Amino acid sequence: MTVDTAFDTTVKYTASKTILVAGDGQEIWSFVKSVLEDNGYEVRVAPSGHAALEHINKKYNIDLVVVGEELSDISGLEWIIKARQKNPHLKIVFVANIWRDADFYQKLRKDFGVSLIVHRPFKPSIFALQIDSLFGIVEESQFPQAVEVNEVDRHVAMKFRYAEILPARARQLADAIEGVQVEPYNQKMLTEAFRLAHNLKGSSRSCGFRKIGDLSEQIERILIGMLNGNSTKNIANQVSEQMNSIQMQAMAAHLKYTSHPDAQSQHENNKDDVSKTLILVVSGGRAFDQNLDENNQWLKILQVSSYDAALKMAREKPIDAVLIDMSLDSRQSALQFAERIRELKGNENLPLGFLSSGRNDDHLEATRAGGSLVLPKPVATNHIVKAATYLSSIRQGGRPRILIVDDDSDFTQIISSMLVSHGMLIRCLHEPSDLLHVLQEFTPDLILLDVMMPVINGFDLCRQLRSMPRWQDTPIVFLTAHSGVDARINAFDAGADDYLPKPVIEMELVARLKLRLERARLIRDRADRDLLTGLLSRRAFSEQVNALLAKSTRHHFKFCLSLLDVDHFKKVNDVYGHQAGDQVLSGLGQLLSRRFRVEDLRGRWGGEEFVLAYPHATSDVMRASLGRVLQEFGKTPYGDTETFHVSFSAGMATYPDDGTSFKELLQVADQRLYMAKESGRNTIVIKS
Ligand code: GH3
Ligand code: MG
Ligand code: MG
Repeated sequence: MTVDTAFDTTVKYTASKTILVAGDGQEIWSFVKSVLEDNGYEVRVAPSGHAALEHINKKYNIDLVVVGEELSDISGLEWIIKARQKNPHLKIVFVANIWRDADFYQKLRKDFGVSLIVHRPFKPSIFALQIDSLFGIVEESQFPQAVEVNEVDRHVAMKFRYAEILPARARQLADAIEGVQVEPYNQKMLTEAFRLAHNLKGSSRSCGFRKIGDLSEQIERILIGMLNGNSTKNIANQVSEQMNSIQMQAMAAHLKYTSHPDAQSQHENNKDDVSKTLILVVSGGRAFDQNLDENNQWLKILQVSSYDAALKMAREKPIDAVLIDMSLDSRQSALQFAERIRELKGNENLPLGFLSSGRNDDHLEATRAGGSLVLPKPVATNHIVKAATYLSSIRQGGRPRILIVDDDSDFTQIISSMLVSHGMLIRCLHEPSDLLHVLQEFTPDLILLDVMMPVINGFDLCRQLRSMPRWQDTPIVFLTAHSGVDARINAFDAGADDYLPKPVIEMELVARLKLRLERARLIRDRADRDLLTGLLSRRAFSEQVNALLAKSTRHHFKFCLSLLDVDHFKKVNDVYGHQAGDQVLSGLGQLLSRRFRVEDLRGRWGGEEFVLAYPHATSDVMRASLGRVLQEFGKTPYGDTETFHVSFSAGMATYPDDGTSFKELLQVADQRLYMAKESGRNTIVIKS
């Protein structure tokens, strides 16, 4: 474990502070002033940047300055530079007009010593809370009146949850300290006590229990001293005041929040299951979700016994995969349901699994309908869990998936409840050594890392991730109580994309994560997607097929490749216009992306040529599946005024029977495509 002794927070408890607002005459500042005054601050608003500098010159007692990015007479950054020359210790809050990249924030914090950065538009009441936290005076009872109701509710629910366990956490720390008292040279016990104090600090601050956070920090410092070799014979005595105070406050918080009726009901509401991976099981048979909840913290099975109920559920909740019982009704209606659920917005790539009805060709039919797996009935619960794990791991698109790695389970719960309410799917990992395993089955879109964890620290973990090609481009954000400059630099050195200090402010966290996710998605899509059809680009397809080839070679799997070409497409362009031609290509692209299994690769090879690859499949299965799509495509009307219909031809090759390299397989598929064209088009050829 690495221990950073450079803690740079100074905490004061008095509330009568003077705040100077370097305003630019805008309405917002007078509102901010009144809200801050309600919170017990003395507030002065200077009408311009220079007037504000005058204030500092005259050595009025200013505890903090709020400065906007654009003042009427000087830029906010210039203002800060001038003010710093006069007073290097002034607390400064910077109000930015837009979100920027990490470098900008780092510069503001590091070079300009800015304590807090806020973005427009901001809510004055939340702003006041942030100011409070800068002075270390967030009181449990202070909830801003003007904040949107759900934000306050969530905050209350979070506090409630934490207040419930606070006394237990305080007791754990007290026990650990007692252990250290008995064996002051036992490094393991010392480290554990330190970890508990550190985590208590981070979590209680993030939930607004500021005083407990500050007291824990005092204890933490003493423990750091001991870890660094300062002998402290009577630790229990030294920290007894803080420890008593923590325990008293923890009890008080517990009483207050567990008896708070609003908090109670919010707490119930917030137990919503959307925080888990949601697997929809459409089956009239025995209930699969029994005995599952206790064993499985991340998986939730929602079982319904009709297709209508399933569609309703899928409209209301962010479903991550579906398992369809083929014997619920007729098999045909199960297959139709599979198509319908993927037609719901956002569900185009929904992974599908089937529970077999016992008929011989169930497997074939299920695969045709896009099923990634077929389970024979009866199904044991552990098989359902395995299936759900697999299906959710192949999900593409859908909810953004966030992996939180932090040894403090209280803290991960807090963050997770924040992010879940913003539509993200969260997995928490408390044991960093399991990271590689979890990455494989969860495949996150973004990783949140804590710095200080037992055994391996977050920086090393981050470096390790960056050394693996698969995780080189995944956004990594550090969340940590280390606020020293060194920690920030280390984070960027290790390859992190961003860095957020604890305590975490929900709006800031969510905004930053969304920014990172969106940017990563744009970059990925730009490189991988063909714009017109939405399918993989030629380059991305080739890359992924080569990976599939390597995997199939290693594990002796078969797979199929097919080349597909639209028939008489030149005529479509000539007769109905280029735009109508584009509509046909885009329509075929959408059809190809909706049908098939999630793991099947689909790309645009160029012009009106498409290419598909089916892992673990033989050409008869693939021909059946593609044949259905061909029929469906042929029936789709195109054109605005005058409608017309289009078909395609395809040639197929199987690995390893027809070739062992991508090039060979393509050649064979191309020959067979030519044969399909020769034989009259609108057909699929799988043998030479
Ligand atoms: P066949 O059945 O033998 O495949 O005949 P075809 O007319 O489809 O084949 P040909 O290769 O002669 O013509 C393909 C046409 O596709 C020529 C080209 O202008 C058109 N094309 C290629 N890319 C696009 C595109 O992105 N949009 C549109 N609208 N047309 C495209
Ligand atoms: Mg930690
Ligand atoms: Mg063609």
